[in-house]
Amino acid sequence: MSEKRDYYQVLGVSRQADASELKRAYRKLALELHPDRNPGDKESEVRFKEASEAYQVLSDPEKRALYDRYGHEGPRGGGFGGGFGSVSDIFSAFSDIFGDMFGGGFAGGPGHGAGRGSDLETQVQLTLAEVTTGATKEIRVQRRAVCQDCAGSGAAQGSSREACPQCRGRGQVVHAQGFLRISTTCPLCRGEGSVVRKPCPSCSGSGLRVVEESLQIGVPQGVEDGSTLRLAGRGEGVLGGGRPGNLYVHIRVADDPRFERDGADLHTEVAVSFPQAALGTTVKSQSLEGEVDVELAPGTQPGATVVLRGQGLPRLQERGRGDLIVHLKLVVPSSLSREQEEALRAFAAAGGEKVEPPSEKRGLFGRRKKN
Ligand SMILES: [Zn+2]
Ligand SMILES: [Zn+2]
Repeated sequence: MSEKRDYYQVLGVSRQADASELKRAYRKLALELHPDRNPGDKESEVRFKEASEAYQVLSDPEKRALYDRYGHEGPRGGGFGGGFGSVSDIFSAFSDIFGDMFGGGFAGGPGHGAGRGSDLETQVQLTLAEVTTGATKEIRVQRRAVCQDCAGSGAAQGSSREACPQCRGRGQVVHAQGFLRISTTCPLCRGEGSVVRKPCPSCSGSGLRVVEESLQIGVPQGVEDGSTLRLAGRGEGVLGGGRPGNLYVHIRVADDPRFERDGADLHTEVAVSFPQAALGTTVKSQSLEGEVDVELAPGTQPGATVVLRGQGLPRLQERGRGDLIVHLKLVVPSSLSREQEEALRAFAAAGGEKVEPPSEKRGLFGRRKKN
């Protein structure tokens, strides 16, 4: 026969109490019986555990129904798991209640789940040629990693961490201010609950070491400026068994004065003269692989484009390449030799066109200089 008190009686509620009534009753008791408010008081600690166990069962509708039917022994006489071993188990089980009880002071107390390490960022610069072929780039990163020599404990070989003498392993200390009891992170162990007596020489007892790593990263061909590669687990390490963060590598593609990029397509400009455009010919254009021929049809207009299929950049994660789009820029000579001028006037005359020199007085572009 169990000597346990009835759970409803422990919490001081009726058997019909609803979830919010239960929570309110437990909160009130927990505040009153909290170990930090009653340091060294064994009885309060026992009652605190008892109340926590009662709340754990009654706040779970399934367990509550079984308790209502079978009592403390549960349906198969196995009971409800025997309550809590330690106070910190209670904090983690009811972190929603303790989290807001003292302004969050307990949410991160000892025994809480380890977090994930911070993410790191770095940048790598590529040329367009490297985007074309894909590249392996070396990057160097400084990051904190769990110390190999002490496996993150911070304690020298042959020694181990010990419970913090100031907070007795709780990670929190309580200051009394009149009626107020304020709980703060223990200054000695900084909330860890344990301290190192003999620090590990490799990490000076911190458990983490700054390491400089050199990583070879494969940048896929066709990658865009501003895109980001994620290297999982290459960020900052973290103590307590948490996963390290990620390393984000931002890709920068250096500007190439010869080309303007639009995804996998490249744009470039080629100057053509009036006779070339009018008569049609073959001109040279820059491409990623050197010079290529561009065919101009007779009568090519200024600003016309010639598309060279497959001469652009590789498509990211796809087959094939984009296009090279050659913009033809008609260049008008800024000065003419006497011979050229005569030929041009003859050309105009042959087309029935009379080209007068600019007017001295009403010139649109101001007065002509007199030589
Ligand atoms: Zn170490
Ligand atoms: Zn401490």
